[in-house]
Amino acid sequence: MKAIVLEQVEGKTHASVKQIELPGGESGDVLVDVDWSSLNYKDALAITGKGKIIRSFPMVPGIDFAGTVNRSDDARFSVGQQVVLTGWGVGENHWGGLAEQAQVKAGWLVPLPEGLTARKAMILGTAGLTEMLCVMALEEAGVTPESGEVVVTGASGGVGSTAVALLHALGYEVAAVTGRESTHDYLLQLGASRIVPRSDFAETRPLEKQIWAGAVDTVGGPVLAKLLAQTNYSGCVAACGLAGSFELPTTVMPFILRNVRLQGVDSVSAPLARRTLAWQRLAKILPESFYASACTEIPLEDAPQVAEAFLRNEIQGRTLVKVR
Ligand code: NDP
Repeated sequence: MKAIVLEQVEGKTHASVKQIELPGGESGDVLVDVDWSSLNYKDALAITGKGKIIRSFPMVPGIDFAGTVNRSDDARFSVGQQVVLTGWGVGENHWGGLAEQAQVKAGWLVPLPEGLTARKAMILGTAGLTEMLCVMALEEAGVTPESGEVVVTGASGGVGSTAVALLHALGYEVAAVTGRESTHDYLLQLGASRIVPRSDFAETRPLEKQIWAGAVDTVGGPVLAKLLAQTNYSGCVAACGLAGSFELPTTVMPFILRNVRLQGVDSVSAPLARRTLAWQRLAKILPESFYASACTEIPLEDAPQVAEAFLRNEIQGRTLVKVR
């Protein structure tokens, strides 16, 4: 099969396109012919070697894929069925989706939800699932469209773009925080009602004027700290990313004086029932226009070069990888 292969050369990660065999030791009940994959921030860190994502080489990256079952040893899946995979360490410690085939455990797969094609499922990919989980976290905290304005950070990235479109489609008034002026029109088109420059988030007092009923944060660091200080009484911040920093320079004040909830969101190990529900909701909520405007399609061969651009913050929206 054709695959992106990561190897260690003189202590550095080297990515290339190769013809390889799935190794005999690669365990899994279901063999999937991969049609589409995508590039996520974590893939960019893995492919460039700029993050310690991969510990065992050679490795095929790709934390998500959509494709067709080629062989199944599990009664839940049959040959020809379309499936989606995100997370579970695939593309990190188990060969991943940037390859023509993947062999994975049946319990990691979700049947392609009704209303989605495999291509659309990967325009959403890990970013879409994560974002739906963030929205569910806000809903569970009682944040509704009537609660007030919600804010999305890292808004022009993959998770951020999906967040803006999804929250807008659900009737929320959405503010988009971005560091790039070039993306303002794109964000307004996705459904943001206003843009807030990332530079406004540099400095924070322990408590500031209350602005946000809820927030989806993909960047961490001082931006997340300021969000917390600006969140309304009993509001909720769903934190899922660290594109800016893994640190959180904050105080306990928003929590103990304003009842603010900081809800972590993880998609990698989200239980199957919750991720299935999230996929079903995603398939129904997003408008057709999202899939065209928030996606750039690339061939498998371009993944290493686009991964570099990711970490230079030159990518807008989702990057869909055509594997076959
Ligand atoms: P992208 O690179 O597509 O988007 C990240 C965005 O963050 C950029 O577009 C940029 O938005 C903003 N950004 C970049 N650098 C900085 C910086 N130094 N300071 C502040 N903002 C910055 O990545 P993804 O959307 O794929 O992922 C976003 C984050 O979410 C990542 O940290 C990723 O690891 C995490 N993630 C977590 C998941 C989970 O399960 N918890 C699943 C998927 C992703 P702009 O230019 O608009 O400011």
